[in-house]
Amino acid sequence: DASDWKLTDLDLLQTLGTGSYGRVRLCKHRNSGEYYAIKIMKKSDILRMKQVQHIVAEKNVLAEVAEKFHHPFIANLICSFQDEEKLYLILEFVVGGEIFTTLRNVGKFPNDVAKFYIAEIVLVFEYLHTKDIIYRDLKPENILLQDKGHIKLTDFGFAKKVPERTFTLCGTPEYLAPEVIQSKGHGKAVDWWT
Ligand code: ADP
Ligand code: MG
Repeated sequence: DASDWKLTDLDLLQTLGTGSYGRVRLCKHRNSGEYYAIKIMKKSDILRMKQVQHIVAEKNVLAEVAEKFHHPFIANLICSFQDEEKLYLILEFVVGGEIFTTLRNVGKFPNDVAKFYIAEIVLVFEYLHTKDIIYRDLKPENILLQDKGHIKLTDFGFAKKVPERTFTLCGTPEYLAPEVIQSKGHGKAVDWWT
């Protein structure tokens, strides 16, 4: 039962990636010997960058998504905890790294490979949208590869429960849908745009 895990139950290992608000490290749960990814975010940084609502939503959305079953194409939340200084999200560890790196190495994907990844992303978005969750940050940096080549989507930092429309300007500039930039309200369609 992961509900009572503490930082001291884990051995922190190498850094897997860094983003705008946090650092993600490999870690090993000492009792079970299992590996996980731990996303560590400093409270003072979150406050300074005015991301409190987004980070609270990240945790709540991830918790809801992982509640009944673990979707195979999502880096699911195992548990979360905090101390004075930092917030911690324990996620399934995805071994293959970012599709960003793969794409940079090969230049471009053949059509059938692109179709395969797109199909898996469509399945994730369909699943999230049935729960009225929009993801809002699809990009190669947030799509990870598993050992057998399937994807796992990570980074729910801009995900939000939105039954109808929402108005916050967020996401990554290169991938923003027109309606997000125009601040006229946006909904699930922005995920298809990205
Ligand atoms: P940010 O919100 O700061 O962008 P992310 O959640 O995207 O942070 O994590 C940053 C990077 O850490 C990712 O781009 C990826 O390289 C790595 N990472 C995130 N989650 C995992 C995971 N579950 N397994 C392996 N690597 C991960
Ligand atoms: Mg990210």
